Amino acid sequence: MSWPLNEEERLLQATAREFAERELAPGAAERDERERFDRSIFGRMAELGLTAAPFPEGVGGAGFSYLGWTLVMEEIARADMASAVTLSVHILSQFPVVTWGTDEQRRRWLGPMLSGERLGAFALTEPSAGSDAAALRTRATRLDAAGVELGLDAPLEQVAGYRLDGTKIWISNAPYAEHYLVFATLDPARGPKGITAFLVEAGTPGFRFGRKERKMGIRACPAAELIFEGATVPASNRLGAEGQGYRIALSALGEGRISIAAACVGLARSALEQAAAYVQQRRAFGRPLSEQQGLRFMLAEMAREVEAARALTRQAAAAKDRGEPLAEVSSLAKWTASDAAMRVTTDAVQLFGASGYAVETGIERLMRDAKGAQIYEGTNQIHRLIVAEQLLKRTAPG
Ligand SMILES: Cc1cc2nc3c(=O)[nH]c(=O)nc-3n(C[C@H](O)[C@H](O)[C@H](O)COP(=O)(O)OP(=O)(O)OC[C@H]3O[C@@H](n4cnc5c(N)ncnc54)[C@H](O)[C@@H]3O)c2cc1C
Repeated sequence: MSWPLNEEERLLQATAREFAERELAPGAAERDERERFDRSIFGRMAELGLTAAPFPEGVGGAGFSYLGWTLVMEEIARADMASAVTLSVHILSQFPVVTWGTDEQRRRWLGPMLSGERLGAFALTEPSAGSDAAALRTRATRLDAAGVELGLDAPLEQVAGYRLDGTKIWISNAPYAEHYLVFATLDPARGPKGITAFLVEAGTPGFRFGRKERKMGIRACPAAELIFEGATVPASNRLGAEGQGYRIALSALGEGRISIAAACVGLARSALEQAAAYVQQRRAFGRPLSEQQGLRFMLAEMAREVEAARALTRQAAAAKDRGEPLAEVSSLAKWTASDAAMRVTTDAVQLFGASGYAVETGIERLMRDAKGAQIYEGTNQIHRLIVAEQLLKRTAPG
């Protein structure tokens, strides 16, 4: 179905599609099977300019609309969901630097991220803080120039750095990423108001990687544990003000969820296209499967899911382009699109029969890849809570 795209957006879509079909699709099954992260793919996406695409020209980005970005994500994920998630998380870790960073931080941190020389990661989740991210326990301690601990009542001018202690889990792109946006608390008693964001480089003494997660899907997109044991960063690595971290995380996730929604549309579209082709060629009871009305109904429902998810995703992207609040619309898009991807990929396995269940056809991989999207960047239960909260706020009597 058509959507009003400008010339630039159509070109971006065509470029991403051609690249994804040529460079990503052919090796996707092998990378999944071997749980192999191929850094050169990220490099090639960067060469194409995708790592700079959704950022304003003023910070060195390519200045495409966010609607344009959803076109890229849909095409990349249609070929390989794991590469789409790596790219999406990389972008997610940069938005806060664009929005909240100082000029010096943008120069130092963004340059190598936009060019793809460095890979980024977003580190929020902890062993006892997933959906309830405000309960995170990774501790940030203020230090003076001599490395001596400072209390929270000391003047900010005395703060020369911060010591980080704690553990993050399920951090996508780790351990390969070089740049980590890490959320830690200065005071757990302050809840969300104690959370502060830090830019942390791999190789910082006291920061190491723990267990690598073994996953059901997107197995070529790595995820690992981060361990901070007295890792020290200079005060210039604090992003935004002390206590602003939770707000920073939520605003980044508002943008990131639209990107993941678009990836889910691409994943679902891949399953739908392959299933539609298969039922026309596979015969049973003397005729192609596509002549069975029951299966036609299934295909129609799959198409409905894809189109509805895409419409909501693009509506959310257009809201971002207009600078509107994103909490509700991005939750609606991500929840709808990831549920659509789950249903459409599951139906595709069914339409393929045993061939869909076999690893060789690659259809079961789509279903495994879809499941995670109902969990990361906020589970779909949490999105229901966000949507209900916004709705009730809007409709509160008086
Ligand atoms: C593939 C993958 C990649 C990831 N990448 C990253 C990453 O890059 N960075 C990062 O920081 N994190 C990442 N995560 C972690 C992810 O964000 C968390 O898994 C997610 O927020 C859910 O947290 P949890 O797993 O602790 O589940 P829990 O919070 O323990 O929730 C368990 C179940 O309870 C439900 N639930 C919890 N609270 C409520 C409630 N109030 N009402 C109703 N239901 C509720 C949840 O929806 C879920 O179904 C990743 C996870 C996966 C699977």
